[in-house]
Amino acid sequence: MARLAQTKCCIICGHEVFRPRPRDEAIPALAWRQRYRIVYQDIHHVTRLSGLASHRDSRGHSWYAPWDHDDTREYSGIANLPERESIRVMDYRSSSENHLRYGFPAHENCWILLQKVYSPTPVPYDMLFNVCKSLEGPEPDRILDWGHDYGGALLVTHGDRVEGRNVDDIRDTAGFFHRDPCSSDEIEGLLRQSSETPPSGAEVSLETSLLKDPLASLPSDVRFLVANLLPTADLNALRLASRAFYFIFHEQSYWALRFAPGGERDWLFEATGIAKSQKVDWRSLYKTTSQFERLPPRLRNRSRIWNLAKLIKDATPSSPIASVTRPSIFGPDCEFDVWAEVTSSQLDTTRSSEDRPKVELPRQKFQLPGPLEEIKAYFIRLGPSEFISGITFLMTSNRSRHIGYKSGSVRKLKLREDPIGFNIQLEYLGILSIQAVYSNGDISEWLGDGFCMPTTRRLVLHDRITAVEGVFDGCKLIKLSFSRHPPKTMEEEETMSKRKSSVFHSGIWYPEMPGITANLNEKHAMLPYDFYPTLKGEAVSGSRYLPLCFTRFGGRQILGSLSTIRGNLNTAFALTYESDDSSPLEESWPRGYGYRATEHPCFQIDGKGGERFVRAIFTIEGDLKPNEEPFIHGVLSSAILITDRGRECELCDYGQQYDGVFNTIELKLQPLETITGIYGVPGGMSLGIVSEKANDTPP
Ligand SMILES: [Zn+2]
Repeated sequence: MARLAQTKCCIICGHEVFRPRPRDEAIPALAWRQRYRIVYQDIHHVTRLSGLASHRDSRGHSWYAPWDHDDTREYSGIANLPERESIRVMDYRSSSENHLRYGFPAHENCWILLQKVYSPTPVPYDMLFNVCKSLEGPEPDRILDWGHDYGGALLVTHGDRVEGRNVDDIRDTAGFFHRDPCSSDEIEGLLRQSSETPPSGAEVSLETSLLKDPLASLPSDVRFLVANLLPTADLNALRLASRAFYFIFHEQSYWALRFAPGGERDWLFEATGIAKSQKVDWRSLYKTTSQFERLPPRLRNRSRIWNLAKLIKDATPSSPIASVTRPSIFGPDCEFDVWAEVTSSQLDTTRSSEDRPKVELPRQKFQLPGPLEEIKAYFIRLGPSEFISGITFLMTSNRSRHIGYKSGSVRKLKLREDPIGFNIQLEYLGILSIQAVYSNGDISEWLGDGFCMPTTRRLVLHDRITAVEGVFDGCKLIKLSFSRHPPKTMEEEETMSKRKSSVFHSGIWYPEMPGITANLNEKHAMLPYDFYPTLKGEAVSGSRYLPLCFTRFGGRQILGSLSTIRGNLNTAFALTYESDDSSPLEESWPRGYGYRATEHPCFQIDGKGGERFVRAIFTIEGDLKPNEEPFIHGVLSSAILITDRGRECELCDYGQQYDGVFNTIELKLQPLETITGIYGVPGGMSLGIVSEKANDTPP
């Protein structure tokens, strides 16, 4: 673990710039990947790009780079320079005054490719620095990584599994990540292969087809322009459908444009220059570069890094946003408005701590006076997820309010009527998608991915929305709040406060939210109250991101065929169930936790014969004071589910080391209810029981 923890990776390609080596390992010859620049912030919070530096030695912990971009002295990591000239790399925790400069490294050759992608505009490295900071996690062994072959920026920890593969495995076996993306000999070789005399364009007679194919009557330069706007695969299809487009296939200028800036093969940008001195058969070059697997390894790495650089460009805002505070619009009428909020965990890392100064993040707050008609959200891709970077609220009479950035792609959601709130999907790094909720309980489609992500009802206010506030990091929305008018009656006030302190309403649920038929038995749930302070009646501010996993091992429909429950919450918060039905109903959960059902003990239940779970017994450690509630003040020691035949299924047993006082508590179900699921936090010694009315179960 220590190896990866200290490995520092290039922010563009994700491959190592620096890897600690054992003392006896020889220092290797300087390779392209040890020449780097650092995007850093100096002691006055000014962002700079360092001069060129190299790092071959693993023994030193400080990195040296000329502070000035134009400084032509090439510094080496082993140079005996004064400590004050160092830059702390990807480690903001250091409080030493000597290390007040800190930043993110990029290979010099990757930086050259990024400059090409941005050309003719310079790389906005101050914005890039902010994006990198936005991707940092709070754990010390987290590293910034731009996603290798996952397609974008991604934070990984040692041992993380991404799309079912171990990140370290991908690192070690990809085979070409260490190849220099700027080496020119492979490119020249490729061009030499394609520099034979280009074939002449075949003449195709159009006369016979003109009657049948109206496209043939278009002038050829118009047809050329049309073809140029199409992806190459579509042109190939069109060429088969209409002979009028056949000639394009032999048109060298068409294929040459594929390699021009903005074209699909623009990563081979040298081709345009070389073509001036020698004849290039562009069509043949297009064909040679078509199969990624058949490209020489350095070009494979270049194509990979080029695509990552494009993603970086898409995700990086072109200019910063400022806080908007208009106290005048929040007059006395709004003073008592009630706010609800969702916060990704990213906000935690920006909180001040002993060794980290507080960062002021831009906040934008607006009233939303009119009924909402449409919402437009901007999405940026970071690693496997798309995050919202900004939102525009369109109201009737053409008024609109925008919060945040306008970077990335934009998508719209037409609203059927003025909503009473929104369901929100979020994850550790930010907010993923939103869904309008209408007064009769109907919901809109998701604006965003909307697939199997932590989701919450927190922003459903059950009244019209009066104002919105967003908090943003360097590239995306990390906190979203809405407000409504204060309740008008005592009853309404009571309903609101009940909702706020219910886990059904305030929980962040994964992989899906519990439906209204699920009784969460909240009074008998051991929950992470630090993350859900309102459940204890404390203020919502400071509530943090922690999804509750929710699983039903059979709703009413499945109970009658349930045969096996497999799982143990000590090691993985997951249960699998099987049923006797002909359809395979096995469900592994929660997804993405690397849970393997076969490794866990199983409990056989005779669902077909009518056996049901009807009781739950918790054992709680702690010598509780008379008025203390065991589920808030105790520690969960064990939990078992008991069937109506008196058989016991053990869910967890944490208490082996404890020799103090135990409290045993039985969960009493509502009449006609049966246990159909559990919820809680993986590894968090937390547990809640889900029960449902089972009218169709035999008595
Ligand atoms: Zn790199």
